[in-house]
Amino acid sequence: MANKTYNYSQQTALAQALGKIDHETQGVVLPIHVATTYIRGADNTYPSGNVYSRADNPTYKPVEQLLCQLEQGDQALLFGSGMAAATAVFLGLKPGDHVLAPVVMYWSLRNWLLNFATDWGLNVEFVDMTDLQQVSKAIQTNKTKLVWLETPGNPMWTISDIAAISELAHQAGAYLAVDSTCATPLLTQPLTLGADIVMHSATKYLNGHSDVIAGTLICKTDNDYWQRIRAVRAQGGAVPSPHDAAQLLRGMRTMHLRVREACTNAMFLAEQLQQHPQIVEVLYPGLPSFSGHETARKQMHGGYGGMLSIRVKGGEKAAVHLAANTKLWKRATSLGGVESLIEHRASVEGQGTPCPPDLLRLSAGIEDKHELLNDLLQALPKA
Ligand code: PLP
Repeated sequence: MANKTYNYSQQTALAQALGKIDHETQGVVLPIHVATTYIRGADNTYPSGNVYSRADNPTYKPVEQLLCQLEQGDQALLFGSGMAAATAVFLGLKPGDHVLAPVVMYWSLRNWLLNFATDWGLNVEFVDMTDLQQVSKAIQTNKTKLVWLETPGNPMWTISDIAAISELAHQAGAYLAVDSTCATPLLTQPLTLGADIVMHSATKYLNGHSDVIAGTLICKTDNDYWQRIRAVRAQGGAVPSPHDAAQLLRGMRTMHLRVREACTNAMFLAEQLQQHPQIVEVLYPGLPSFSGHETARKQMHGGYGGMLSIRVKGGEKAAVHLAANTKLWKRATSLGGVESLIEHRASVEGQGTPCPPDLLRLSAGIEDKHELLNDLLQALPKA
């Protein structure tokens, strides 16, 4: 599915959505295909290639092709949410398969692995993916079928070395899948570093406007495992509406501008806040003092993302006070939109969270960086 003849940059690919037009009308924006079903030929085949919209829809195609181009993948699949995309990767495995997942990862997926995947028969082991020795010890040759990474890892922004872990996984006969939601296809391209599958919650930076729930997977090569994942989507039906797919494509056309601005804002906020006496720690891969900075420098290009976390002096009470008193920052879950969001993570994640109680997660939007900083400073509890 990858367009091998499209020789332009990611920026141009995004702005022009691969330059596709509607040939029937000459429209510069592609139509939304609402049909759920398609005519069979008299010979009983489907000449258009379209059969039934639970399995596939022509509105998905330009989005999937653009994703292949951005990630340098072979095929892509759109899903009805990031969680639907992520869980499809695990549902493509078989009961008894051993999988490794990170200690720091998107909380709902960790819950799903603990509460559903294990009941269904997957042998899930959580590992510190920032420590290559621990990863190497945990991988079992011919038993581990999948290593799942998330880098930067939500909400501590832990960085895992994709190239090194892909070698370990492949030596043991396992696949490597990477949740690259917070890196976006612009800052890191996991398939070029050895991963087999890359996943994004398209709800976040890909769409970028907090008005579409969607997810995606992109594979390096089409193989039996990918075909099983494709069947999970087609048979389970976790697909987005054609309207959401079209809106996602519209959002993606400005992703390079939004991500660039969010990275600049996040870096500025991290540098400023780390000097503040009431901030205990700033977690941001762009800071040289951050534990994963060297690996981030190696595998992230053009910025370190729009996500950072801060730990507030005074514990949970002080952190909640800060979040309660912002005027510009919106107190809400999610990330990757044009508006800046702030959230007390431990209370969302509940028992078992690796998140300290004094931590606030910040999703830097694209507003004026000085106004964002000043809003946080005025909301800090008085020392
Ligand atoms: N992965 C990461 C890193 C996320 O932050 C999220 C959602 O917050 C997801 C996956 C799940 O995506 P969705 O909400 O689209 O199901």
